[in-house]
Amino acid sequence: MKKPRLNGSNRWNNMTDIPANYEFSRERFRASASAISDRWAGCRFISHALADSPDLMIDVISADATREKQKLLIITTGLHGVEGYVGAAVLQLFIEEYPPRLEPETTGLLLVHPINPYGMKRRIRVNQNGVDLNRNFEDDLSALKTLNPHYESLASLLNPARPLKSPLYEKLAFAWNVLKALPRGASLIRETALMGQYRAPDGMYFGGFEPQEETKFIQRTIFNQITEYAQIVFLDIHTGYGPRWQMTLCNPPSEKMSAQETAARFGVPRAVGVNPEEFYTIHGDMVEYFRKRVQEKYPEKKMYAAAFEFGTYGDSLLESIHSLRTTVFENCLRRHGGSDAIRKWMKREYDELFVPSDPKWLKKAEADARQAFEGILRAEGFFKEESSYFE
Ligand SMILES: [Zn+2]
Repeated sequence: MKKPRLNGSNRWNNMTDIPANYEFSRERFRASASAISDRWAGCRFISHALADSPDLMIDVISADATREKQKLLIITTGLHGVEGYVGAAVLQLFIEEYPPRLEPETTGLLLVHPINPYGMKRRIRVNQNGVDLNRNFEDDLSALKTLNPHYESLASLLNPARPLKSPLYEKLAFAWNVLKALPRGASLIRETALMGQYRAPDGMYFGGFEPQEETKFIQRTIFNQITEYAQIVFLDIHTGYGPRWQMTLCNPPSEKMSAQETAARFGVPRAVGVNPEEFYTIHGDMVEYFRKRVQEKYPEKKMYAAAFEFGTYGDSLLESIHSLRTTVFENCLRRHGGSDAIRKWMKREYDELFVPSDPKWLKKAEADARQAFEGILRAEGFFKEESSYFE
């Protein structure tokens, strides 16, 4: 394949940093394709331009095993647009450190940057239609219309349909709404806020009335690639959920391994199952979608699929309420506008929720990413014989 050219010699010094913007991130990803094509003959670079924004691309490095298709590693980023900045840093870390330890003859790679370029470019979670793509992976979305029955009754908290006033006013109003709703139970609020909803296109966590362009592209790309591989590992990178200083490995609901078994098998400190007790209920989530379809269609294939969740604010009750407030206000500002003061404040708040600015945070996130890549790829047998690697 054609190697993208690098412009300037010192641009790529801090290769794994969080990129400053979508364009830089894309250029870096394209440039790094040579690290893959050097080892995988026939490696392809696929770009899908969004129909309504042709300057925004979903880019894919697709490298098939060169001799026999045994193992396939899929890493996806930016399903939630803004989370693609940390996602791109983690993907870059993988590209710089891991390909030499894999066996191109029998192992394929599928690396995606980012699934939601519109959201990444604008530093928001949703796509151009206001859809949360991690609620959009369902074959029959109309069947989900009646899901989440409490959503409307919590509308004044979750979906205030008015322009936002000053930060102080809105902080007090939000705190008051939380106090009013709390007697119904923190877990009910949490579930209602996060599980996804399929009725209010203006609301948070809207899963869409139909499959989105990005969803269909990723489905085509992944289903095309997996057919001949006997074993698949699929990792999807996210930020915003969980404790601030420890990445959480999130198993989809259909995963048979318990959280403890997962943590022990892969040598990671923290794993959870995506269920109401350990995480929260989600409908239409991508990792579960692919895991279930692969199980149904190819029961003989072995597959481990999970999300990496890098926590940011933290996971105490107060921090969860804080992150809910940021999510509600961002959605409200985008839909109904608000004062300049609140826009400025929310810009910082929202960025810290998904792209923390503290360099120490990124260092720890990188260490956690390495620990999880090491543990998963070793347990799943993706590394070359360690002896030959160290020769
Ligand atoms: Zn996410």
